[in-house]
Amino acid sequence: MPRLFQKMLIANRGEIALRIQRACRELGIPTVAVHSTADAQAMHVRLADESVCIGPPSARDSYLNMPNILSAAAVTGADAIHPGYGFLSENANFAEMVEAHGITFIGPSSAHIRMMGDKISAKTAMAGIGVPLVPGSDGEVVDMDAARAVAAQIGYPVLIKAAAGGGGRGMKVALGPDELEEAWTVARTEARTAFGNDAVYIEKYLDRPRHIEMQVMADAHGHVVHFGERDCSLQRRHQKLLEEAGSPALTPDERDALGAVVTQGLSKLGYRNAGTLEFLYQDGQFAFIEMNTRLQVEHPVTEMVCGVDLVREQIRIAAGEPLGYAQSDVRFEGHAIECRITAEDPETFAPTPGKVSVFHAPGGLGVRVDSALYAGYVVPPYYDSLVAKLIVHAPTRPEAIARMRRALAEFAVVGIRTTIPLHQRIIEDAEFQAGDYTIHWLERFVAAGRDH
Ligand code: ADP
Repeated sequence: MPRLFQKMLIANRGEIALRIQRACRELGIPTVAVHSTADAQAMHVRLADESVCIGPPSARDSYLNMPNILSAAAVTGADAIHPGYGFLSENANFAEMVEAHGITFIGPSSAHIRMMGDKISAKTAMAGIGVPLVPGSDGEVVDMDAARAVAAQIGYPVLIKAAAGGGGRGMKVALGPDELEEAWTVARTEARTAFGNDAVYIEKYLDRPRHIEMQVMADAHGHVVHFGERDCSLQRRHQKLLEEAGSPALTPDERDALGAVVTQGLSKLGYRNAGTLEFLYQDGQFAFIEMNTRLQVEHPVTEMVCGVDLVREQIRIAAGEPLGYAQSDVRFEGHAIECRITAEDPETFAPTPGKVSVFHAPGGLGVRVDSALYAGYVVPPYYDSLVAKLIVHAPTRPEAIARMRRALAEFAVVGIRTTIPLHQRIIEDAEFQAGDYTIHWLERFVAAGRDH
């Protein structure tokens, strides 16, 4: 079989860089790792076929340094770049520059990245293809008068959100009219500082939704399939901690119905490669909040239930291959759960960088660990604190929980504190076990744990 690409540069670090290397290796594609000076000893560098140092520790000067990454591709002769998640993965300018250099960007077109990167234009696009939205302002809200009018019309509580938002930043709740001005000002300031763009819009703040998202894959020949939903309701500060596929709250019929709307819509938009549509789900209704035009951290739970390698699919599609299967070929088997393990104190969430003296990953049937940790590795203080993803797969949800319990107990990370104990507490909780939770559940659970 001819190689899909001659060489893949992976513009990322940590577990996701390894994850992408694994797919490349199975496809027979040599890999180039890029790294900051702080990551010279990192696993993604050790396991790559070649590596290039692209700058000092600060992400701005290394993993976000587009000229240096493009030079690394030129020097090594890479003809494709996979951006992973975070860093440059949703940067439309980067995707454009990559393509301008005659290199294939493993992801959607820069036009689609740009469209979905602005949450206001994303909502407009989704409304246009019949996807239901969270009620809110019709586009940007330019001043306080407009904000007051919108809030009065949709009813409090409302959420002020940054058009350029991401990572849960630039989002503020106003419970009533007296809180609106402050929420508006804080959200705008945060948006300006974090994203250099202070455009904001308003949404109804839902009081007990679940976060349910749909994984989609589209080829360049007009075929679109979905790989079902993930339930990512367990969040702290709007950041996901534990994800499941499928959602304990959804019936197969609801999944099929939402999947049909989403795949037909994306096919109309001419979307290509992997994407995730995020929804809030409350009282049997779905409401779109945003679309991610990249691989997501939690993609493994989908891979486990569908038996598909999503990174391999991304690479095949980017090389122009057709999907080669239809929606009716996609099967959903059993249940999968992922725990995001971070180098953080399990109670205060203070970062805990430092040296890992012992590392022992769990194994056995239905257990997967995506991690770049090893004994002797020093977790640097400069980057995201995610150090391992523990994923389990079993025929039923109760069996998956039992498997997660035993896998967490086997997991040994000594030298730094991690969130393993928090995950152990979550999976023992009766409400979690009943699948009875919303996006607000985890904050309360953490706060209650701290009180005693
Ligand atoms: P980001 O891009 O920063 O992740 P999202 O729009 O995806 O922002 O929202 C992140 C999380 O914030 C959601 O998963 C949900 O928990 C919460 N959230 C977003 N919009 C609303 C809303 N209208 N009502 C209640 N919670 C919301």
